[in-house]
Amino acid sequence: MSDLIFLDSAGSSIPPACVVDEVVGHLRRETEIGGYRAAAERRDDLEAGYGVLAELFGVAPTEIAFTDSATRSWLTAFDAVPLAKGDRVLVTEVEYGGNAVPMLRRAEETGATVEVMRSDRHGQVDVGALELDERVKLVSLVHVPTNGGLVNPVNEVTAKAHEVGALVLLDACQSTGQLDLRGLDYDLLVCTGRKWLRGPRGTGALVVRDAVRERLRPRLFDHSGAEWTGRTEYRPRDDARWFELWEYSVADRLGLIAAVKYALAKGLDVIEAEVTARAKRLRDGLADLPGITVHDLGERQSGIVTFTSERVPPMELKDRLWEQRVAVTVSQSASTLIDMTRRGLDEVVRASPHYFVTPDEVDQALERISRSG
Ligand SMILES: *Cc1c(COP(=O)(O)O)cnc(C)c1O
Repeated sequence: MSDLIFLDSAGSSIPPACVVDEVVGHLRRETEIGGYRAAAERRDDLEAGYGVLAELFGVAPTEIAFTDSATRSWLTAFDAVPLAKGDRVLVTEVEYGGNAVPMLRRAEETGATVEVMRSDRHGQVDVGALELDERVKLVSLVHVPTNGGLVNPVNEVTAKAHEVGALVLLDACQSTGQLDLRGLDYDLLVCTGRKWLRGPRGTGALVVRDAVRERLRPRLFDHSGAEWTGRTEYRPRDDARWFELWEYSVADRLGLIAAVKYALAKGLDVIEAEVTARAKRLRDGLADLPGITVHDLGERQSGIVTFTSERVPPMELKDRLWEQRVAVTVSQSASTLIDMTRRGLDEVVRASPHYFVTPDEVDQALERISRSG
């Protein structure tokens, strides 16, 4: 695959060798001594993993829970936010389908309403136009959408939400691992391992800020999240691990921890600068190609680049590029229905170059896009 120009880190990136070695090595060890003993050998590393993820987000280790996907993190967190009839939940125009569907079901069940926050002319949440009151219980904020380059403001939205006592649930699936998230203000954050973090599939994390844990009512936990203390009693853990289940893939978790360590060693600021530069090079190059339209919104832009060709439909263009050894994907309207409908888009080609894609490879990709599209 060495000649492949890989532009799909927003989909499922390519893990570094240290991540694969960690996962495969642990699976082998399990075949030698069994899963329990193998996990016991790595107990200290697994424990240290909370500190590693805490460093990634600039939070405390007590605020980290490991999960098996961003969606699992999101569902667990969302389900723990008390909602009643008349409560308001606010979402961005770029809300992710996997969040939207369960939110609609819960609204149906509780009588809460789901409302879309307005965007400004750059496509980002219009902070000035936010209309909040005490009925707003949750703001579901997508940091970087799955279908485009924009980056939503976080601290400004959170400041407004906190004025009325609302919780902010930050979907940082597409920003974790490409942007430096330390210093952001939110109550809950969800991320996935396989995208920009270059971790194994089937991994994710949830950040629950210590200050809000008492306001949450998790329903999906077991006897590791809460201790069974008596026939009719249980005592929840006093950290974010309340939100974890006992069973998990130890190999994959070790792989995720290795991936985060790898990112921290490279430097989150370096990664952010390099990813942003690669995406800009690609975006600017695409804008110069006849018949190609770039669709990215946002004043500040991330590593996600989306475009269409007036000659070739997105799916076909993706296939043609794969034949030319360029990996891209297609983002479909069902993933971000509100935004795509509003802009009259059905599908867009999505290219997401990580720092390991060289500027020269970006130029070669542009050449092949120009030939194929
Ligand atoms: C990919 C994605 C998710 C879901 O992540 P999973 O790990 O597949 O659960 C959520 N939100 C956004 C914005 C995404 O791009």
